[in-house]
Amino acid sequence: MKTKVLLLGIDGLVLTRALTSGRAPRLSALKERGYFTEFLMSSPTYSGPGWSTLLTGSTNEEHLVFDNRFMGHNLLRRPDLLSRAFYQDQSTTTFAAAGWPPLVDPTGPGPVIHQRREQQLAFQHRVIVRDGETHGYRSIDAEIADIGTFAISQHGPDVNFIYFCGADEAGHTYGTLGTEYIDAVGRIDNHLHRLENAIVKRVESLNEEWILVVTTDHGHLDEGGHGGDHEKEKASFVIAVGLGRENPAWPGNVQPHQLVSHILDERAK
Ligand SMILES: [Zn+2]
Repeated sequence: MKTKVLLLGIDGLVLTRALTSGRAPRLSALKERGYFTEFLMSSPTYSGPGWSTLLTGSTNEEHLVFDNRFMGHNLLRRPDLLSRAFYQDQSTTTFAAAGWPPLVDPTGPGPVIHQRREQQLAFQHRVIVRDGETHGYRSIDAEIADIGTFAISQHGPDVNFIYFCGADEAGHTYGTLGTEYIDAVGRIDNHLHRLENAIVKRVESLNEEWILVVTTDHGHLDEGGHGGDHEKEKASFVIAVGLGRENPAWPGNVQPHQLVSHILDERAK
């Protein structure tokens, strides 16, 4: 049986802040037991180029996304993780859910995740689009968590990307040093816990093998904000935990644009 994948994207997560706050127990536990590496994102450290790199396995110069407007992007020629898993094995089912529209919404800039309409019609690919920019990420992240938990427990797609942005939103509004940021991290840790539980139930009842991978697209300055090349803005990481199987044995020097191929290697085994 092939390894199934959940890639969890937590936008603007300052990992050290999350871990030392005591409010992210699930994330801390995953880091302790899993594969872990830190890496630096390329500048400009905006969400557009960051997620484009992490999700398509391309450098900024390859996907040509340098900001959140996506003007002149090359994403149609740089397929995302879900698409590449499908092209690698056309029985693959895929699922994406995000509240930041450029990742998933075909009517706006991007999207980074390809639509693959034929696979959607065949129920092999589902894309859940929500708009946290308009409605706020506190409620939209919770809705994404509900839908994602349902999808994983009921359908168990092979390769999943689920995304939360409440921490980034709080970072921009309040900075990262106050309680607002940590409250947002705590809410996301709860979402993570629900998704992890859904996977664990499948592992126990269906003997499936999964990897749960967590990453972020950039950090934040203490006062909130990113885009520049300060180390706090470029700071990112990968946590990868095997559920029903061993942890991925990835090298310690994985770079952001290499994450997709390492995940796909686990599928090919
Ligand atoms: Zn971001």
